[in-house]
Amino acid sequence: LLILGIESSCDETGVALVRLPEGGAVPQLLSHALHSQIEMHQAYGGVVPELASRDHIRRVLPLTEAVLAESGKQLADIDVVAFTRGPGLAGALLVGAGVACALGAALDKPVLGIHHLEGHLLSPFLSADPPEFPFVALLVSGGHTQLMRVDGVGAYEILGETIDDAAGEAFDKSAKLMGLGYPGGPALSRRAQDGDPKAFKLPRPLLHSGDLDFSFAGLKTAVLTQAKKLGDELPARTADLAASTEAAIVDVLVRKTMTALKQTGMKRVVVAGGVGANRLLREQLNQACAQMKVRVHYPELHLCTDNGAMIAMAAAMRIQSGREQPARHYAFDVKPRWLLDSLA
Ligand code: ATP
Ligand code: MG
Ligand code: FE
Repeated sequence: LLILGIESSCDETGVALVRLPEGGAVPQLLSHALHSQIEMHQAYGGVVPELASRDHIRRVLPLTEAVLAESGKQLADIDVVAFTRGPGLAGALLVGAGVACALGAALDKPVLGIHHLEGHLLSPFLSADPPEFPFVALLVSGGHTQLMRVDGVGAYEILGETIDDAAGEAFDKSAKLMGLGYPGGPALSRRAQDGDPKAFKLPRPLLHSGDLDFSFAGLKTAVLTQAKKLGDELPARTADLAASTEAAIVDVLVRKTMTALKQTGMKRVVVAGGVGANRLLREQLNQACAQMKVRVHYPELHLCTDNGAMIAMAAAMRIQSGREQPARHYAFDVKPRWLLDSLA
């Protein structure tokens, strides 16, 4: 089966082609193309939903043509059209859903709506060293921070999650306070390389709460307080503050992940979502996992943030597992709010 995947939940338009071989073989990424709207939104310091929708409209067909050309395929070769059905920005989701269902109807091929977070969660299966079920998953993105027990495709149990901001949000908001632009995660991480992670004492919220929940709102407030205290000195100390912030976020993520591994007795952990690209997180998690003899898997760096490949891959794995039978049903809807553990 040839699966076209379309991602448009936020500020990235992503399109990809994945081939699902007959039998049990691993789905294979043939090509993928991405357009990031980051530059367009930068002037506003965050994503402007209406501008995002309009740009998805402009990008989605040229990107589709690009992935077809790159893999030497034609529209008529597509067997299933998969799209992100939620969660995300309603207007942005509607563009991908509308295009996917129109394509499906025109080609007389089935369509399949995919959960964006399931895409992130399964994205490490696109890497050269794919995981095996079961595993603990640390999903750390711009909108979500969750620890999960994953027993197979569609078998997701939330062990803990953030009660306020997501880890990516903590990076982004702290970076904004330091004047590092949007989205701040990568910029803050880069600046942190020249700083001292012990320069400022920042809180590790909920570290000893005994459960697997997270909280990052208080950390952001502590960073704000520190930035105000520094005043005119802030530019000279930004690297130190960035390093201290990154260390605090990563420290909590790593320690809670290790607790989840101990509690479940699992010997495998999978990291997914944009923050999974963070260098310090990977370093510290690798170290902690080596000590506990736990295997750790990541998505490839360029597939940590939103992309079409993860949507096509999730569709392929859902079809392969027998959980999904794509249908010629073109009356689409989207789910701006949609819980991952409500999937089967
Ligand atoms: P969600 O998937 O929850 O709907 P999203 O799609 O906006 O949210 P992603 O695309 O998975 O989130 O990730 C974007 C987030 O990842 C941003 O918050 C960004 O700052 C963060 N991020 C990306 N790279 C890094 C990095 N190297 N270090 C820290 N954070 C990073
Ligand atoms: Mg994005
Ligand atoms: Fe995402």
